[in-house]
Amino acid sequence: MKVANKTVSAVRLVQDALKKAHEFSDYNIFTFLNEEGALKKAREIDKKIARGEKVGRLAGVPYALKDNFLTPEGETTASAHILQGFSSPVTATAVKKLEDEGAIMIGRTNMDAFAHGSSTENSYFGPTLNSHDKTRVAGGSSGGSAVAVALDIVEFATGTDTGGSIRQPASFNGIYGLKPTYGCISRYGVVAMASSTDCVGFFTKDPDDMDLLMSIASGKDSKDLTTLDDYYNTETTSGRTIGVVKEFDNDSVAPEIRKALEEKCELLKSKGFEIVELEMPALKYALSAYYIIVPAEITSNLSRYDGIRYGFRSDDSNDLNKLYAKTRDDGFMPENKRRIMIGNFVLSSGFYDAYFLKAAKVRTLIVKEYEDAFKKCDFLLTPVAPNPAFKLGEKVNDPVAMYLEDMMSVSLNLAGVPGLTIPAGKTKDGLPLGLQLIGPRRSDKALIEFSKNLREVEE
Ligand code: GLN
Repeated sequence: MKVANKTVSAVRLVQDALKKAHEFSDYNIFTFLNEEGALKKAREIDKKIARGEKVGRLAGVPYALKDNFLTPEGETTASAHILQGFSSPVTATAVKKLEDEGAIMIGRTNMDAFAHGSSTENSYFGPTLNSHDKTRVAGGSSGGSAVAVALDIVEFATGTDTGGSIRQPASFNGIYGLKPTYGCISRYGVVAMASSTDCVGFFTKDPDDMDLLMSIASGKDSKDLTTLDDYYNTETTSGRTIGVVKEFDNDSVAPEIRKALEEKCELLKSKGFEIVELEMPALKYALSAYYIIVPAEITSNLSRYDGIRYGFRSDDSNDLNKLYAKTRDDGFMPENKRRIMIGNFVLSSGFYDAYFLKAAKVRTLIVKEYEDAFKKCDFLLTPVAPNPAFKLGEKVNDPVAMYLEDMMSVSLNLAGVPGLTIPAGKTKDGLPLGLQLIGPRRSDKALIEFSKNLREVEE
């Protein structure tokens, strides 16, 4: 990462990033550009450097912030109409940690509204375009962040991953994307989607930057009681035995992705790694369980948006109930409403046992299946999604087709285990391919170390 010092100034780094952001405006990456704020911070850092004062490990490094992290700069809207006009009085813990080290946020990035989606087409601001093909989706929900890094506008970007929203757009744009172990990074100040699966993570161009960001952002936070102790910064060893999942090797996976996985396995074998094939039968129920558990939590988390407390209000009624209903009707996107309805349905008294309770039991089976798998191997290597970036408009009106794109990513969130997207070449049409490295809980550092080794093996 290019850090500000006596030869490269922070102002220069920020100016370059903002210039690129403007150059690529047709990709619809940013919902807000922090031009004045970023330059002000950059000038402060340059002054400190000139005075010989100590600066942080990310001094002057421009970064992009997914639009669901709360900070006072601009409006935090989660790319949803119902949050238009909302400026946060608080700063998310993850953001504070990055900025304490001198990182500079140059803009907020576009996303599926409230992070519900896999293509960024559910954004109130319209879709972000893929970095390698403007007729295709960026992936989602963190599409803007992935494209900002892939087009080299910023050195890194933040994301959130509730069911794949970092790993899938990273894969669609040919970069690294990490969903850490649940609880590794504080969720304080992040707009909640599904509290039991939401994770904060990053997009980077290489694993070394990921390592640095994780060492800064991870750790216990008294404002988020689900955070774990600071295990990330302890010594670790990298793995030698890699598992592949039999259930993910089928005709619903694009041939080019299967080939990329096969080639990676061959390469690993030739370098002395052991490849083992594992059966994980409960994984085929992960998508169904996810699309019950997550909407149930969404229903609860979105109940706070009532037109009174935050942002937008449809204000044509003196009747409070009508005001709530109209605000929510006008303010939520169709996908948000669909999830609120599914969530209420699966939690309702007549259906709770048949849906929510059953999904919770499946979740326990998935947790156990991962635990068993990691008795037989150090990491798993799988596709991230069944297809490379699909065409804009291709799936947005077919929610089930869109949900099916998540079939390989959601089980990690249900189990709380970490997953790292690594680039794995391109299709013959030049679309990026990615693979997903999965490790046991708290193996984040080892996963990153392994991806560094893999990069060396390939060079
Ligand atoms: N695509 C998944 C969903 O729509 C995951 C979203 C996410 O990780 N925020 O639920």
